[in-house]
Amino acid sequence: MEKKNIDWGSLGFDYMQTDKRYVSNYKNGAWDAGCLTSDANVVITECAGVLQYSQSCFEGLKAYTTEDGRIVTFRPDLNAERMEDSARRLEMPVFPKERFLEAVDQVVSANAAYVPPYGSGATLYLRPYMFGSDAVIGVKPSHEYQFRLFATPVGPYFKGGAKPITIRVCDYDRAAPHGTGHIKAGLNYAMSLYAIMEAHREGYDENMYLDAATRTKVEETGGANFIFVTRDQKVVTPKSNSILPSITRRSLMDVARNYLGLEAEEREVYFDEVKDFAECGLCGTAAVISPVGKIVDHGKEICFPSGMEKMGPVTQKLYDTLTGIQMGRIKAPEGWIREIK
Ligand SMILES: *Cc1c(COP(=O)(O)O)cnc(C)c1O
Repeated sequence: MEKKNIDWGSLGFDYMQTDKRYVSNYKNGAWDAGCLTSDANVVITECAGVLQYSQSCFEGLKAYTTEDGRIVTFRPDLNAERMEDSARRLEMPVFPKERFLEAVDQVVSANAAYVPPYGSGATLYLRPYMFGSDAVIGVKPSHEYQFRLFATPVGPYFKGGAKPITIRVCDYDRAAPHGTGHIKAGLNYAMSLYAIMEAHREGYDENMYLDAATRTKVEETGGANFIFVTRDQKVVTPKSNSILPSITRRSLMDVARNYLGLEAEEREVYFDEVKDFAECGLCGTAAVISPVGKIVDHGKEICFPSGMEKMGPVTQKLYDTLTGIQMGRIKAPEGWIREIK
């Protein structure tokens, strides 16, 4: 198969329209058969539930070319399951896991010419999403929904390697204790835009959100979970019902235990103890891990011993191992890699 004429090395994290996307509609209590389409536009009523009351959820995953030239996705079953959870919490019909996986396979296969070559640092980003598509003016769930999945090639999240970033402790809250922080809903992002732009205006790369109830415990950033490394090389990640369960983070905890022989624990992390950690990173599909060099809490700085030049040593090992598994250089645990035929 001939690849598109794209300068893979200069791709950013931006949308580029590709040839095919998957669409399925839910009507009269059932999903239709679904199909691939060349039409990149969505046409819906002005009164659609998604436009009025933000009834929508989404997922994000990637397809890669492995070292031996296969095209694979990484743990798409977990994206499918998470989207089922998101749908239930938003009173949306579940798009079945098997169909989700089928849609991923079809879209990647139909856009194989856009899957960046091994070694380019670029990947094919996949965006499944679902929204209420029929008219609702009284506040209630939609009756009709659309599931879509498109693909867009994206560059390496960090050009020229991952430099540690500086984040601030944020005065706004991301998620309420019994709210929607644990699902991947667009509404969680809409309300984070003000906080992230304010952080950027003040010279920070990201926000660290604390728990809304007590503001003493670490939650996550707007779109990535935290991992910390203790001075005696234990990997720690915050536990909370209002954190989005990152697939990257769950995978890194497994990698720490089963590949690196490290202790790894998910527990409540008080902000007061953050100064005692040796390393800090943010994890998500887009960048895998972004190292954090400095956290600023209203003028008070926490500088990690790993510094501002490179990732800490344990973070680097976690990164190298997980990306090695994804790119087929390291043997993956059973079921982590789904090959696209
Ligand atoms: C998507 C997302 C993450 C990262 O999850 P991955 O499955 O690792 O991509 C973390 N936090 C939030 C709020 C997210 O929406």
